[in-house]
Amino acid sequence: MAQTTDTPAESITYHLDAEDRIVWVSPDWGRFAEANDAAELADTAAVIGQRIWPFIDGLTERSLYQQFFDLVRNAGKPIRIPLRCDSPTHRRHLELQIGPLDDDDGLAICSHTLRIEPRPTVVLLDRRTVRSQMLVDICSFCLKVRSGNDWIETEQAVRSMRLFGDGPAPQLSHGVCPVCLPELYRRLNITPGP
Ligand SMILES: [Zn+2]
Repeated sequence: MAQTTDTPAESITYHLDAEDRIVWVSPDWGRFAEANDAAELADTAAVIGQRIWPFIDGLTERSLYQQFFDLVRNAGKPIRIPLRCDSPTHRRHLELQIGPLDDDDGLAICSHTLRIEPRPTVVLLDRRTVRSQMLVDICSFCLKVRSGNDWIETEQAVRSMRLFGDGPAPQLSHGVCPVCLPELYRRLNITPGP
């Protein structure tokens, strides 16, 4: 059984302009990027001025984020989205808050780490691992993997689907699972609260 680690309030914030370009990141951006297995994004010079869309995997996820951004810009109120952002060795439970900025349709996006649980390494989530041609569907929000009609945790998927045996890991096709999708639409339809 993995132990839950009490983590200090860990969060990063970044700002988007009206064209969804990243115009500001909080000082701990680099450390957060390293902790989230995205060292190539740790250099703020590499991200400032870039539009956010290439950094979001999956058409469905990009579409949902576009709807979240539209909702926040139109309603002028923040919205909160639960999210998993695991590294190979840790389950990372985050909450994303998307809020309006005062000026010109900008957005403030805060990624807040709720808790982190260590676990045995899941190579499937190692972004640097060699991949086969096989594709498996993974939910961008809860990180469950599709196994037939079921969506199961990555650790279970690697075991029960014998995903890659001794060979390389399959490629991940990012989408949204049938549990997360209605929940995300519910958040889009309700009046976002504080
Ligand atoms: Zn999901």
